Amino acid sequence: MPSTAYEIFALKYGERVGSRGGMFVYGDPHDAPMAMDYFVWAIRNSERTIVIDVGYGREEGESRGRTFLRSPVEGLNLIGIEASDVMDVIITHMHYDHAGNLALFPNARFHIQDEEMAYVTGRAMTHKVLRSSYAIDDVVELVRLTHGERVVFHAGDDEIAPGVTVHHISGHTRGLQSVRVASARGPVVLASDAAHYYENLENETPFAVLENMYLMLEGFRKLRKLVPSAAHLVPGHDPEVLKRYPAPSPELEGIVARLDLAPKS
Ligand SMILES: [Zn+2]
Repeated sequence: MPSTAYEIFALKYGERVGSRGGMFVYGDPHDAPMAMDYFVWAIRNSERTIVIDVGYGREEGESRGRTFLRSPVEGLNLIGIEASDVMDVIITHMHYDHAGNLALFPNARFHIQDEEMAYVTGRAMTHKVLRSSYAIDDVVELVRLTHGERVVFHAGDDEIAPGVTVHHISGHTRGLQSVRVASARGPVVLASDAAHYYENLENETPFAVLENMYLMLEGFRKLRKLVPSAAHLVPGHDPEVLKRYPAPSPELEGIVARLDLAPKS
């Protein structure tokens, strides 16, 4: 195994049941319930541990009708990661379900795209529909962290550490970044919300929450170019992820999946 290969974990901390009609930009003529899982991700090798996104807190999640299963920090404990030991957190984008627990990582630097910071503090936020997926306290916290020299800005595709790169993919939000991670089975891309579900990618049907549909569609193509096969792409909210990938141990079935191992199906 090359020394840069990482173990890659998806950790579920919340869920909800929506409807197919509400999940896709043009709806779905055969409306039916559709589940959504909420994840944070972590990668680890002998050199370093990096957390990707921090999830929502109980209050924010429940105020939006989402189920809060466990604090993402407690979830990380299940795989042996202490939040206070984490030095680097990649924030894929600032939506409430990805950036709601920044303060729970007291020693981390947060990696974010320039464009996301400009987007969440600028003119776009005068539009209610665009700001509705952001929590103002998260944005204010990010500004505080910036003044505290704990934010690292990236302009487009960039390397975070050996074997870990971020890839700017607009569409869902202006400054979303997906993360490519070296693993024993090749590079795995954590799409985050560049693709919420496998079927967004397979059918090229955009998710209903978006900033620019054209760029979201271009993003699907960019994601495909980053990986050797579709089985190396991991969507951001699909309950299928926990079904397709093995759990690290039987007790963590339905909570944690190992994405650096080959999918079961
Ligand atoms: Zn999301």
